[in-house]
Amino acid sequence: NKGSGVRTPPTRVGIMGGTFDPIHHGHLVAASEVAHLFDLDEVVFVPTGMPWQKDPAKVTPSEDRYLMTVIATAENPQFRVDRIEIDRHGPTYTIDTLRQLRASYGPDVELFFITGADALGAILGWQNADELFELAHFVGCNRPGHRLSDSGLPEGKVSLVEVPALAISSTECRERVRKGEPIWYLVPDGIVRYINKTGLYRDS
Ligand code: ATP
Ligand code: MG
Repeated sequence: NKGSGVRTPPTRVGIMGGTFDPIHHGHLVAASEVAHLFDLDEVVFVPTGMPWQKDPAKVTPSEDRYLMTVIATAENPQFRVDRIEIDRHGPTYTIDTLRQLRASYGPDVELFFITGADALGAILGWQNADELFELAHFVGCNRPGHRLSDSGLPEGKVSLVEVPALAISSTECRERVRKGEPIWYLVPDGIVRYINKTGLYRDS
């Protein structure tokens, strides 16, 4: 029914978690490619509330990260953004998100959690790692500078896929803005404009 304007409930749903500080084309290409490869009905972008691995003082307010994620995904009918982590109190754990999404979608929907190679390699250190793999199938994407491997991860619960490689990171985008270097074409045009308008990432 794609493009007809009539919506049937999704049965295969991708979940793209991230700090999105800012969202960039590496995130968007990974989500788009996995949606294609796994025949997903939709991909839900879930901006992290308070990333437990990152220094809260150095993370941009969640409302800005949420808005940038909305701006970057608005034109793609297969993409949507969920506030689930932003509206939850306390440090963000993916296990809580997957439990909540599983509960709201119901038992019959297949969930695919999309990660880059770096995040995939770190999953065993996340909270309730074993339960994570019961709630969703994990899809690891190659990412320049990181080795894509499923060693140590449970068999049959993880797929490794090749996406067009983009050597872009949010850290580098923030650095570039701070130094007055362009980020055009690393992030969607609307994100360049949002960052210019708000003054995000400039030295305070
Ligand atoms: P930061 O530098 O602030 O950590 P980031 O670029 O790593 O930002 P995140 O929001 O931390 O972006 O990443 C969210 C998810 O997207 C993670 O699973 C990460 O591995 C994946 N990802 C980020 N950039 C890329 C990329 N260029 N190619 C493939 N996957 C990526
Ligand atoms: Mg990262």
